[in-house]
Order: sequence, then C-alpha cells, then structure tokens
Amino acid sequence: MVEPVAIVAPDAGWPRRARELAAEVRGLLGGWLTNEMVHIGSTAISGLPAKPIVDLMAATKDPAATVVITQHSLASALWFLVPPELDRRPWRQVLGGVRAAYQPPTCQKGARRAGRLRRPPRSGLLRRLGGALHRSAVRRSGRVDLHPRTDGAVIGGADMHTAVVGAGPTGLYTAIALARRGHQVTAIDRDPGPDGDGLWNRRGVMQFHHPHGFRQQVVDALLAEMPKVWDDLIAAGAQPATLPDQPGQPGRVVGLRCRRLVFERVLRSAAEAQPGVTLRTGHVDDICRERGRAVGVRMDGHQVDADLVVDASGRADQLNRTFRGPAEGGDCGIAYVSRQYQLLPGAPNGPMNAPFGMVTTYPGYHAIVFIHDNRNFATLIARAGTDRRLAALRFQEVFEAASRAIPSLAAWTAPDRSRPITAVLPGGRLNNTYRGQLNDAGQVALNGLIFAGDAVCTTNPSVGRGVATSLMQAQQLVHLLDEHRRDFISCSLEFDRWCAENIKPWFSDHVYGDAELIRRWSGHDVDLTRPVPADLIMAATEVDPAMLKVVGPYMAMLALPASLAAVEPRAREIYASGWRPPVPDGPTRDELVELVTAVVRSRSA
Ligand SMILES: Cc1cc2nc3c(=O)[nH]c(=O)nc-3n(C[C@H](O)[C@H](O)[C@H](O)COP(=O)(O)OP(=O)(O)OC[C@H]3O[C@@H](n4cnc5c(N)ncnc54)[C@H](O)[C@@H]3O)c2cc1C
Repeated sequence: MVEPVAIVAPDAGWPRRARELAAEVRGLLGGWLTNEMVHIGSTAISGLPAKPIVDLMAATKDPAATVVITQHSLASALWFLVPPELDRRPWRQVLGGVRAAYQPPTCQKGARRAGRLRRPPRSGLLRRLGGALHRSAVRRSGRVDLHPRTDGAVIGGADMHTAVVGAGPTGLYTAIALARRGHQVTAIDRDPGPDGDGLWNRRGVMQFHHPHGFRQQVVDALLAEMPKVWDDLIAAGAQPATLPDQPGQPGRVVGLRCRRLVFERVLRSAAEAQPGVTLRTGHVDDICRERGRAVGVRMDGHQVDADLVVDASGRADQLNRTFRGPAEGGDCGIAYVSRQYQLLPGAPNGPMNAPFGMVTTYPGYHAIVFIHDNRNFATLIARAGTDRRLAALRFQEVFEAASRAIPSLAAWTAPDRSRPITAVLPGGRLNNTYRGQLNDAGQVALNGLIFAGDAVCTTNPSVGRGVATSLMQAQQLVHLLDEHRRDFISCSLEFDRWCAENIKPWFSDHVYGDAELIRRWSGHDVDLTRPVPADLIMAATEVDPAMLKVVGPYMAMLALPASLAAVEPRAREIYASGWRPPVPDGPTRDELVELVTAVVRSRSA
C-alpha cells in the first residue's frame, strides 16, 4: 500500500510554517548547523500547487555525528531519524527520479505528520512524525515500524519482581529496560562497582581492561530503550564510530568508540538512577526452586525472592551448569595480548582503515588498534593459541619491541604520539560457545529462569561481536516478556528459537572461520574443497568490490552469515585463480618469532 499523493492548492501560510519549523530545528541542532536553513521544494514556490509537506535543507559539518548526538533532543521534540538507506527500499516509488509516493508508517492514534527535513547532499534525512521510529526494527527487517516510546511507560506486569544475576552489560541493560516498564528488578553482582575515584578493578571479568569496540547493534539497542545512556556515553567522552561519506551516501554511525570501563560505568550509573532497579553486591550461589519453578536466588546465604530470574552471569556461567545441556563449542583457538595508551596533547590519531581504528592481518597474527574515548586507544596482538613461540608477547619488553616492528602499531605508539597507560595485559581463554535455554531432554531448563548474554553465546572477541549479540538478546528478551508476561515457559521457548535463528549463526560462523584461520596461520593454503570462510570472502572484495553489496551488511551484522552464500562462488573463483590477500608491510609470523626470541634471550642474558 502506498500513501496517495495529494496535491493541494497553494497555501500562503507555507513560508511562515517553514520559518517556524526552521526556527525549531535550529534551536535543536544549535552549533552543528553550518549555514542558515533553507526552505526548498514545491511549497517554497509561491502560487504552485504542491504536496502539503514543508521541505527544509540543513547543512552540518559532520552529518552522522550531528544526527547521533542531537537525536535525543530531536526525538523529545518529535523529530525522528529516517536512515538514508531507507530511501533505497523497494517500497519507495521513484518516478523519473522524483519521489512520487511512499508507504506511510503506522502512526500512533492521533499523530500526524507535520513536516520533514529533507536530506541535502551532506546531511541526514529527518522526518517529523508522531511516535518513535524503532530504528533497530528498520535496520533488521527493512520495514518501518512505529512503536510508542517506552520511556518510563508501564507496559504491563508492573508487580513482577525480577532477579538479574550479573550486572555486566547484559544484566544492566535488562534491568534498566524492565524497570522502565514498571517492573521491580534486583541486579546482583559479586563486584561492588567502581571506586569513588572512578577506578574499577572488575575482578572476575577478564576482558574488562581489554580493548572493546561497540557495534551498531549496541547503539541501536541503547537508542531504542535508553537513549539517555547514549547521551551520557557521549558526554563521558565516547565517540560515535562513523563510516566516511561515500559518493551519494552520507557517512553514518556504525558503532561506538569507548573503553569497556567507561561503557559499563555509564550503564551502571543509569541503573543506579533508574527507579525500580536495586543493585546489590553479593555472590549468587544457587537458584531457589519451588514446585518446579524458580522463585528467587540464594545470595551469600540469603534468599532474594523473585518471580523471574535472568541469568546474565557471563561466559563462565558456573551457577547454572547443572540446569542446561552442555555448551557447544570451546576454545576459539586465538590468544590475546593488549595494552592501553593515551594520545599526547595535540597529537593526531594514527593511521586508520576501519571505523574503530586499524586492523592489519598477517599470515600468522592480527595487529589491531581500537580507538576509545577521551583520546585513549588500545593495541592488540592476536595469535594462534597453539603458537607458543609468540607466547612471550605478554612480557612488556617483548610487546614493545613487537609494537615497534609492526608498522600500524609503531605509528600509533610512537613516543611522540602517545604514552602507555596500562601494563601489557594477556588475555585468558577465549571461547566460541553456544548454550540455549533447554536441558538435555529438550525442555525449558527451569520455569522462570532465563539465560541471556554471554551465558548463551560467546564468540572470538577479535571481531568484537559479544556486546552486540548480548544486547540484541537482552532487547529481544524484554520484548518477549512484554508479550508473554508471566508465561515464562512460552517466553523461554520463543527466546530459545529466536537465539537459535539470530545469535547461533554468529557462533557457527566463528567456529568454522576461526578453525580455518588457525589452519592457514599454521602454514596451510586456502582449502577450496571446503566452503570459503567469511574472512576470505571479505578479503576477496578487494578484487571484486561489487561483492560488497552482500558482504557489507554481513560485516555490519545487518545480514546473517548465510547471506554470504550469494557471493561464495565468486570468492571461490577468485581464490581458484591463484589470488591471495596481499601481505601487509611488517614482520611475517616467522620474523616476529625471531624478534620475540631475540628479546627474550636478551632479557635473560
Ligand atoms: C578479551 C575479550 C575482548 C572482548 N572484546 C569485545 C569487543 O571488542 N566488542 C564486543 O562487543 N565484545 C567484546 N567481548 C565480549 C564482551 O566482553 C562480552 O560479550 C560481554 O562482556 C558480555 O556481557 P555479559 O553481561 O553477558 O557478561 P559479563 O560482562 O561477563 O558480566 C557478567 C557479570 O556477572 C557477574 N557474575 C558472574 N557470576 C556471578 C555470581 N554467581 N554471582 C554474582 N555475580 C556474578 C560477573 O561479576 C559479571 O559482572 C570481548 C570479550 C573478551 C573475552
């Protein structure tokens, strides 16, 4: 169905209306505007019959950042973002290059479209609508769904009490989202939270001080349920990670550059401030059960009663090993060493080849730079876990020597650009694991106990998908609880199905791709008797950029790994022709081993 095109007689009030709307938007965009706003389109032409829609043009220095940073205040005034890619949806009817009609989104009762701000060559497209544009639904399904905003709204079951085990990203997000719907939530973590001075040791979460990149799905999840957390992250110095402008396509936000420390500190503060959330420090030792259902948790010997228990206790998930069937997967085969740095005053960023920083892949190891908040960044060397000859990278002198030898790391960590702010940090075991909601008999593990986040799925962190898959789950779980209310069995079953369809494919992608990567890192060539793995398909876009149409959405996690099947034959053809990804400048794996060995020898001499 498309909205009929209504051309109406010219209205002398249109220019005045345009001035009013321009003044309103100017107030909201403030210093981001580089020029005066201009009334354009047919309503700007005196005496011309037109569609009764006022078009305004606004130019900004950095359209993607402008939209992200101002969208909370824009949304409060009922201006909502229509991502530019929606303009290319098939339901847009474009006749002779002129948009003639569009499918109207379903609006809240009584809402009406009051005007829109059309995208000039270098800005985002905003449309004024009653109701909130649910951006993640748009991104994933290509549909436009409008939902009433949930800010502070009570959606049902307001008397439900939920105990959330674990106050990491999944637990905090779930707690805030449930409390915003009027539920009472107790989130329990063995970690007491940051010290008064803002430092945070965070024992028990090994990855806390390792580099993190937060993907688009994390941004979407925050903006959909708790936009103020996004604003607070930006205020705390986090930066939107943006793709640069392309011809015909303005740059857009694809994630967040931020230390995990800052991300969790802001999320935790939001949970502390959220009415309905109680944060408690303690160790959850057991799930309390009565008549085959969860009725709370045992924390340091005391029972905390609850109607629902959400286990967001992370990847170790010691607590609930007995309830569910065993996890699939295991060690991902990669080992990590990282260190955090800060740019010196006035020093510019080093080289970048990705929105989050710089990724360089050598046959035998990865060297990655993650840009974080407040001029901080982290470097990372990832190797095969079995490559013991590189294990000494965990020693400071060895890591520093390797960083000087690898051009991308050398550029970022040069003493005239930055200084280290942490010790060299080796990573612990890194797993690809998946564990659904069901027990060995294929039934819901326990009525009223639902697992989410890393407790369901962990993936090789060098690709940075963990918080994305965790918050996607938390967001989905909260929606299913809205729908199923206290029917926790149905909710668990549906959540399990959803995770199997939307989360597990990322786990399977890693299991296959990581094993293939480790095989190649140990000296083997591309194996064309087997499906070409995702990393090689991505690399092959260098030869055939047309593949990016399919590969790009996969890289951004907007399309599931199965979507790559459409270009796998083309990638296979490229590798069959003998092409291999070019080896970047810098030490080969064997040269790195030599360097590491030499530094170790000189240390012990
Ligand atoms: C080295 C490394 C680097 C990573 N880098 C990235 C990245 O760049 N981008 C990305 O998106 N993801 C990354 N990840 C993944 C990401 O860190 C996880 O997906 C994320 O932490 C999952 O959040 P969670 O809340 O489910 O679990 P966690 O963060 O592990 O939180 C679980 C919480 O539960 C608490 N807890 C556990 N058991 C109990 C108990 N019995 N009683 C009380 N409290 C308990 C713990 O103290 C912890 O606070 C990385 C992971 C690793 C290992």
